[in-house]
Amino acid sequence: MKHQLVYYGNETLRKTAAEISAVDGNIQSLIDEMFPIMYKNDGIGLAAPQVGVSLRLIVVDTKEKDGSPFVLINPVITDHSSKTVDYEEGCLSLPGIFSTVSRPDKVTVTALDREGKETVIEAKGLLARVFQHEIDHLDGHLFIDRIDPDERNEFRHALKKIKKLSKAVSQ
Ligand code: ZN
Repeated sequence: MKHQLVYYGNETLRKTAAEISAVDGNIQSLIDEMFPIMYKNDGIGLAAPQVGVSLRLIVVDTKEKDGSPFVLINPVITDHSSKTVDYEEGCLSLPGIFSTVSRPDKVTVTALDREGKETVIEAKGLLARVFQHEIDHLDGHLFIDRIDPDERNEFRHALKKIKKLSKAVSQ
């Protein structure tokens, strides 16, 4: 099955994604489709809902010396630092929109890997940021939900344009 990137306005982005019950060949082929989509669009993270699949799966490659790339299935943030940091975020589903989001500096994430093996990752800095952004997607949250309403209001025209693009793509 061929998947493609979906944009703001697509209803899958607002759904709570379902847990993956078995890491089988179908899930592995979905993973193998997601990495090229992420790289082609110069992304460092991609969640399955962003390719229209409402499942709890993310792929991440920050290209740092942190063990990337990562495949996280059913990821759960089990711990986070009280210290938060501000950082400018963007999203492949929200082209052209960038805004500063405050998030914990460190997180511990428990997930299954590509082989279905449980893994625990302690992440900080950019990797922690990307994990949190992508896991948000699995709960139907976008980074623009986490910014100041006045600032979000400034993006309303841009968001309208993306919604139109979203409709054009899904037709
Ligand atoms: Zn995103």
